[in-house]
Amino acid sequence: MTEEFNKIIKGEICPYCNCETELVSGEFIYPYIINEQPRPKYLDKKYYVCKLNRNHYVGTYSDNKKSLGRLADTELRKLKHEGHNIFDPLWKNKTHFKSQKEAYNWLSEVMNLPLEFTHFGMFTNEQCINAIKYCNNLISS
Ligand SMILES: [Zn+2]
Repeated sequence: MTEEFNKIIKGEICPYCNCETELVSGEFIYPYIINEQPRPKYLDKKYYVCKLNRNHYVGTYSDNKKSLGRLADTELRKLKHEGHNIFDPLWKNKTHFKSQKEAYNWLSEVMNLPLEFTHFGMFTNEQCINAIKYCNNLISS
């Protein structure tokens, strides 16, 4: 893995603009809902955002520090949601896998990726599309 790839999946550089990112609160990402009641929890989350384009961002894990993966634009965010919506029920409902671990092992194998890089948050548009395809094939087989 190159140093650049490493920084991209850690949310340290924007893969679209190739620039640095900064850690901001959800209020910066969703300024139009800061007065919403009850206050949405994700306003208090931290996000890595591109210094050049605030539409490029990614959330963090519960520590508010570790990035969920690469910065995403509108299209990639849509694909990540789609991916989770089709993949998660396969293990959550135990229709195809007994556990989350088993499901990710399968995905890592079919996508030919190391397990540690098999996360929707780290995927490119193309990888999301492929993962969705593999899930669809599995469901209809
Ligand atoms: Zn950017």
